[in-house]
Amino acid sequence: MAYEITRDYIRTGNSRPGINIGTVRFIVSHDTGNPGSTAYGNRNYFDTQQPSASAHTFIDDNYILEIIPLNEIAYHVRPSVPGDNRRYGANANDAAIGVELCHGGGINFQLAYDRYVWYHAYLCDRFNLNPNSDIIAHATLDPSRRTDPIGILRSNGISWSMFIDDVVEELRDFSGEVDEDTPSNPTPSRPQRPTATSRLPIGEGDSGLFVRDVQQQLIDAGYGLPRFGADGIFGEETENAVMRFQRNYNLAVDGLVGPVTISKLQQVLQQKVSAPDFPLPNGILRRGDQGNAVKQVQRALNQINFKPGAIDGIYGPNTEDAVRRFQSMYAALANDGIYGPNTRRYIRMELNE
Ligand SMILES: [Zn+2]
Repeated sequence: MAYEITRDYIRTGNSRPGINIGTVRFIVSHDTGNPGSTAYGNRNYFDTQQPSASAHTFIDDNYILEIIPLNEIAYHVRPSVPGDNRRYGANANDAAIGVELCHGGGINFQLAYDRYVWYHAYLCDRFNLNPNSDIIAHATLDPSRRTDPIGILRSNGISWSMFIDDVVEELRDFSGEVDEDTPSNPTPSRPQRPTATSRLPIGEGDSGLFVRDVQQQLIDAGYGLPRFGADGIFGEETENAVMRFQRNYNLAVDGLVGPVTISKLQQVLQQKVSAPDFPLPNGILRRGDQGNAVKQVQRALNQINFKPGAIDGIYGPNTEDAVRRFQSMYAALANDGIYGPNTRRYIRMELNE
């Protein structure tokens, strides 16, 4: 399914400085944070009010609306956040397309979400980006101030990794050649994970560093390669391990490692790493409580970037505030600053992301 992109640019001004963007290296995913505001509603707001923040594209259940040309910059992430430079070697505003999901009010979430997924795939195809490494949530870049779009997706039952999987799936339809083929990158200087530089899928007969990485990940995930280990040669033993892995996670069992298998592998490894390290207490904890259980909650919150102040085992105002900030990401949670079974469940989900 392909969608139409509407290009109706706002006039130049604070919101659209008219500066050339150079090479597009990644996508920052947002939501408007303004329930019920539509794509055109946002366009008209930015066109007339010209606030010094903006994004390239607004998506609702009717429109994929580009309000700033994709070869110009938009101001959609605070320049002082460090995550974009660390990951991509550039400020988001200088090297990323900002995409906003409109939601709430009379907007049909599913229709808007489908367009949002499709448009991310479209951008990946157009700029040779890898969904697994080159799409980042605004919340991930600016966790102390932002929850978008993770909170909105979550409150509609979609985790971040499910969203990325959906984009990967959608991107397959853009490739004219082989299914699961990820475009190679035209700018060799760009720092990136090996997934983006290898032609996917890989399978029996392939060899090299990327094969060795995948083999090591299989071993780490519990799919041992007792005969040859991580030797960089994709033989029958590796193929069998891949097929066991695919079978266990209900993926297409073809023994080939493409974006879907890689993404699932990374997800599984992250869960293995984070789950045992961050035990979460049962029961209810609130301001005034003390002890090891409180410390566990503080450690977990710290890990997912909701800083609780000192990890001292004392449920004071800072811890309460961190719990409340976390809760505010989810429509399903009361923002009461009290840690209970529901909050526990969502913190666990976040740790496993
Ligand atoms: Zn945002």
